[in-house]
Amino acid sequence: MSRPWLGLAVIAILGCVQAGGAQDLYHGGVRRESLERDLRYLASDEFGGRGLGDPELQQALTFVAERFRDLGLEPAYPVKMGAGDPLAGYFQPFHAHGFPPSANVIGVLRGDRSQAPSTVVVGAHVDHLGRDPQLTGDQIYNGADDNASGVAALLEIARILSAERRQSGGSSERTVLFIAFSAEESGLLGSKHYVANPLTPAEDVLAMINLDSVGRLRDDQLIIFGTGTAREFSAILGGLNPSYGFDLAEQKGGVGAADHTSFFVTDIPVLHLFTGPHEDYSKVSDEADKINYAGLATVTEFTAELARYLSYRDRPLTFQPVGEKQLAKMETMRKSGERKVSLGFMPDFSMESGGVKVGPVFPGAAAAEAGIQTGDVIVALGGERLDSLVDYTAALRQHAPGDRITVVLLRDGHEIEREVVVQERR
Ligand SMILES: [Zn+2]
Repeated sequence: MSRPWLGLAVIAILGCVQAGGAQDLYHGGVRRESLERDLRYLASDEFGGRGLGDPELQQALTFVAERFRDLGLEPAYPVKMGAGDPLAGYFQPFHAHGFPPSANVIGVLRGDRSQAPSTVVVGAHVDHLGRDPQLTGDQIYNGADDNASGVAALLEIARILSAERRQSGGSSERTVLFIAFSAEESGLLGSKHYVANPLTPAEDVLAMINLDSVGRLRDDQLIIFGTGTAREFSAILGGLNPSYGFDLAEQKGGVGAADHTSFFVTDIPVLHLFTGPHEDYSKVSDEADKINYAGLATVTEFTAELARYLSYRDRPLTFQPVGEKQLAKMETMRKSGERKVSLGFMPDFSMESGGVKVGPVFPGAAAAEAGIQTGDVIVALGGERLDSLVDYTAALRQHAPGDRITVVLLRDGHEIEREVVVQERR
């Protein structure tokens, strides 16, 4: 079921106030070269992997603040005339216990809507894993996909929406907050700090859109988490998608290992865009040359249109707490300490229930040794049936490196069993 008129209506409305420019804005409005330039810059060795506590992360955050200023976004906080750093108003500093201090960067595109919810949030995290001096050869976690891709998209969306508002002088638009989070890799610290110290209360936020790892589009598959967190999301996405042609994999729950989760727990509808797992995830090989730039441009354009639509939408959204059971389970697991073992593959996040679909399998690792293949669906592990990734994680936690466990797989419609020796998680 799709509703193409929805996207067209938005285009028509903006087309009027944007005489002659509509084509530029809505197809090819994204400047692919500028996306690629920003991504390559942030993912370059100059930024040393943007690790929390490293000066290069601060430089990357400053780069984002400068861009927000140059794009015409207002600083989030007032700065006294002549007081120190002119960029200071864009920073939201925080210091989580046991971690080095850092800051989120927030740029405001001011709207004039008076009644709540009057705000839309678009976010992406800047930090990554820094360097590992233990490694021989390449030691820098460039994080091109994770998450220079999301930050490049965030900057481009800010540029497009800011330019449109300047030209349209339109009314009844919501304020759009662009937030570049820090310390995501250390446990969503930046986004947690933001929601505990927000610019506007949660009731005033229509929705939060998160961009994390959007640079590896393959087979046009775009995974969107949180589509069940507002009753209207599926229809909205279905309305926008026909002009883009994504194979949308909707994940209803609002809980995951990314910054949207922090907003979801305060009852804000969330959407998290993701182009899928790959073998370079959290490795030094997550490099800029492996990015699908045309794909990134399309995802950026789609997200810009989504943010634009939400900023103009007349009616509120209906929050649905989909994923709260998972949240409770994750919280219990967090308290019981780190998971110690792995099977050596990346889950394919496009499957939400009915088992855990196997994504890229790491050569030589436990899963590969046991003959587990990409595309297999794990339905039981160590005698426990699995429905979701959370179940899988919970089941694995009960094992130590070297344990031999039975895995039941669904392959070509048949259940098969494999013995796996679980390995230490690195
Ligand atoms: Zn990430």
